[in-house]
Amino acid sequence: MARLIDSYQRKFRYLRLSITDSCNFRCSYCLPNGNCIDPALEGPLNLDEIINLTTAFAGLGVEKVRITGGEPTLRRDVVDIISAISAVEGIDQVAISTNAYRLAQLAPRLAAAGCKAANISLDSLDAGKFARVTGQTTNQAVLDGIDAALEAGLKVKINAVLMKGINDGELSNFLDYVKTSPVTIRFIELMRTGDNKEYFEKHHVRADVLALDLVEQGWEVMQRGTLSGPAEEYFHPDYHGHLGFIRPYAKNFCDGCNRLRISCRGELKLCLFGDGQESVRHLLQNPTQMEELQLTILQRLSTKKESHSLQDDNFGTTRQLASIGG
Ligand code: SF4
Repeated sequence: MARLIDSYQRKFRYLRLSITDSCNFRCSYCLPNGNCIDPALEGPLNLDEIINLTTAFAGLGVEKVRITGGEPTLRRDVVDIISAISAVEGIDQVAISTNAYRLAQLAPRLAAAGCKAANISLDSLDAGKFARVTGQTTNQAVLDGIDAALEAGLKVKINAVLMKGINDGELSNFLDYVKTSPVTIRFIELMRTGDNKEYFEKHHVRADVLALDLVEQGWEVMQRGTLSGPAEEYFHPDYHGHLGFIRPYAKNFCDGCNRLRISCRGELKLCLFGDGQESVRHLLQNPTQMEELQLTILQRLSTKKESHSLQDDNFGTTRQLASIGG
C-alpha cells in the first residue's frame, strides 16, 4: 500500500540509494578535481543499516530501489547489498547506476543477486571526447560492460549528459548505436549544481532541438511507467533501441516526481535540488526502530516542495551529483 504520498498527491514508490560518494572518474560536470570527501565524516551505511532502511521504505510502499554512488561498484560488497535488498519483501525492482568500468566482470553476479536493470553513464561514443569528459581512457571497458549487462539479461539504459560544444552534435552516432543495440540512450540536460557554475554556463543547452529532430525523423514518444524516472523516451520501428531526454529545465518536469533519495551516510533528501537533508542513520541501528523511522520519513515527506527552483538558479545544497547519486 502506497503510504508515501506528498501534499501534491504524488506517490513515491522509488528510492534512489547512494552507497558511496567516492568515484574513480573525474567527470568535468561533476567531480573534475576528483573526490572531495571530508575525512572527518563517518563511513557509508553498512549492510545491516541498508537492510533496515529498505525494509522501512518497502513497508511504506516503495517497490523499486536504485543503487547509486559516486560509483557504487567501488564497494566490494555491492553484490551482497543488491542481494539483500532484492530479498526485502515488497521490493520488486533493484537497479544500479554505474560508470560501467567494472561491469564486464560484475554483470553476471549482479544479475544473479537480483539486479534487473543498469543505467550506464556514457557521454560520448568518441574515445577522445570520452577521455576529455571523464578523465579516463576506459571507454572500451564501458562498451564491453554494456554488452555484458545485456548478455546477463539486465535492462540497459545509457545516460549521456548533453553538453554544448562537446556531444550536442553526436545524435547521429547514438542513432547508429541504437539501430542494432536494444538499449535506451537518454540525453540529460546538464544541470547546475553548487560546484559547476562556469562549466554550466559554458556547456548547458536545452534538449528541445534534438527532440524535435527526432520527431521529424519519425520517432514516436512512448508511455511512461509508474516506476519510471523522468525521461521521455521515443521508439522507431526500424531501430532495436530507444532514445530519450531528461529535461529538468522543462515546464512541469516535477509534476510526476516519484522518487526519494538517501545519501550514502543515511541522509534523506526530498529533492535532488532541495535545501538540506536530514540524517535518519540513528534510526537504522535496530529493527525495533522501524516505526519511528517510518514516522520520521512520512513527517519529512509532508514538507516536500512542489518542484525544484533551478530556473531561479536555486540548486539547493547539492554541490556535485556524486554526493547524492544524481
Ligand atoms: S527536481 Fe526534485 S521535485 Fe523535481 S523531479 Fe527531481 S526530485 Fe522531484
